[in-house]
Amino acid sequence: MAIESVTCPDCGATGIQIDTAREHSFCSYCGATIHMEEARRIAALEKLKSDARQSFDARRYDDARAGWQKAIQLGPMDHESYWGIVRCQMAQFPDTPIDQTQSEYSRAWAYSPPEARAAYVQQVEDYNAGILARQQVAAEEQRRIEEERRREQQRIEMEKYREQQRIAEEQRCIEKERYLEQQRIAGEQRQIAKKAAAFRRKIVARKVFRVVLLVLAILLSLASLVLISSRVWPIIIFTFVVAGAVWFWWFMAGRKTKKLLALDQPEEDNPEGGNRHGN
Ligand SMILES: [Zn+2]
Repeated sequence: MAIESVTCPDCGATGIQIDTAREHSFCSYCGATIHMEEARRIAALEKLKSDARQSFDARRYDDARAGWQKAIQLGPMDHESYWGIVRCQMAQFPDTPIDQTQSEYSRAWAYSPPEARAAYVQQVEDYNAGILARQQVAAEEQRRIEEERRREQQRIEMEKYREQQRIAEEQRCIEKERYLEQQRIAGEQRQIAKKAAAFRRKIVARKVFRVVLLVLAILLSLASLVLISSRVWPIIIFTFVVAGAVWFWWFMAGRKTKKLLALDQPEEDNPEGGNRHGN
């Protein structure tokens, strides 16, 4: 007689020893009838599920998914197998929400007892809420970056504007300074022109004065010659001496005028060369 260890399909108790020769036996915990064929099916199903769980824990999600598919063929009403596939999907595509109408999830939900169902619903809700929260955080981060970029752009524009204003202000200052400098130069030029005119008037006055002296000297010289016939010697000598003095005055005035012209003329025509020609 062979003894086999099986799981009770009613209460789930494991390790129930039954005789393989008999077609059915009884559960030692709940007393339910255990059919050998059914017990073997359950045992095979448990083995598949156990393997699938191990694959999942080892992160071999494709293997786990294939294992759960096989388990579904053996136990189409077993909610754990459907839930196993849902878990694989959550692990493999962590950014894709679980849809309530998705066949694996809806079957896990439909075939599960209330406690397990509540746990499934809770896990799926948490999972979906996590995706939403991450998306919101990412959107918030994106908005923050956009805002920062916009502010930076504004700051650059503002700086550019201020720089332009500063340059324009500098330009205005330079223009103003240049204008004032031109005014100053024009004033100086007017002053120089005035001085030159005054100098020319002085020279003309001197020339006129020299002409007067020349006429006086000639007249006095003629007078002294005419007076010789009168033979009044003191008057003749006096006239002659005065005439000589006027001639001398005329000659000295001529020299002074020449000296003035030599000193001042070059300075006015050519200010740079003035000192060279001067002394
Ligand atoms: Zn039992």
